[in-house]
Amino acid sequence: KAKELGKNRYCLYDDKIGKAEIRKMELEKDLLVALENNQFYVAYQPKWNVRKNSLYGFEALVRWEHPRHGIVSPGEFIPIAEKTGVIIPITKWVIENACQQCKAWQDKGVTQAVSVNLSIRLFQSGNLYELVQHVLEKENLAPHLLELEITESMVLYDLDDIILQLQRIRSLGVRVSMDDFGTGYSSIGILDRIPIDTLKLDRLFTVDIETSKKHAIINAIILMAKDLKLDVIAEGVENEEHIAYLTQLGCYVMQGFYYGKPMKVEEVNKWLTTMPVTR
Ligand code: C2E
Ligand code: MG
Ligand code: MG
Ligand code: MG
Repeated sequence: KAKELGKNRYCLYDDKIGKAEIRKMELEKDLLVALENNQFYVAYQPKWNVRKNSLYGFEALVRWEHPRHGIVSPGEFIPIAEKTGVIIPITKWVIENACQQCKAWQDKGVTQAVSVNLSIRLFQSGNLYELVQHVLEKENLAPHLLELEITESMVLYDLDDIILQLQRIRSLGVRVSMDDFGTGYSSIGILDRIPIDTLKLDRLFTVDIETSKKHAIINAIILMAKDLKLDVIAEGVENEEHIAYLTQLGCYVMQGFYYGKPMKVEEVNKWLTTMPVTR
């Protein structure tokens, strides 16, 4: 009996791996045609300045509506898209969408910036600068209204090259932020060289912010950011306790479910009518 059970278990396990593998292969294949089949949309999540009690900006977060699997999270498909290279046209599409939307909000009097997540592949493509410049021109958007989010892991690839590319892009007036700060291979040592405007404190710091050790770390990051003249944004802000701790520690810009989840444009527009937007 036990042997049978063990065997069954083994089969089940094996089957699961098989299913995950099959799904991955399916997604990889389907990703190749997802753009032309209009299966992506961009959700926008607000960033809120609590001191000014006003909107700070939005982050563009891509969503994939798979015809059979439903919404597939970016956490699942972005790594696959990076592997095959389709992340490049996808990112281009997200930047275009974000710039177009930002321009549309501007025309309605909402003048804040929109940020887009980059992938290392864009830096390796060799024409990120041209891409960004082209989209800004096409959408007729002021460059300071576009922000690009990079992560700590990207700078491991070729720091000098990334610095050069970021310098060119920032010379356009485009802003750059370091996403998920504090979780990657500590990039503190390169903060004096990497040309950025903003640090985004990873959600992990916000989650259990009530511990004194977390306070010490957040406090140090915020002090350092101020000295370096960087903005600090806290991710994953879900309740008033988070807000109280963060403001006490000197962080005044928040992103998280407390203020708003990533939303479709129509929802954002509804959300905007409920919030006091400084123009
Ligand atoms: P990220 O850039 O750090 O984005 C923030 C993620 O945290 C989003 O997940 C957002 O929905 C989630 N989030 C925001 N507020 C809260 C909160 O209060 N609580 C909790 N628990 N979660 C919160 P999402 O949309 O699933 O995106 C996951 C990651 O996928 C992003 O992390 C980003 O690294 C990547 N990603 C999303 N869109 C793109 C894209 O267009 N291009 C690339 N290259 N990566 C993208
Ligand atoms: Mg991000
Ligand atoms: Mg982030
Ligand atoms: Mg994060």
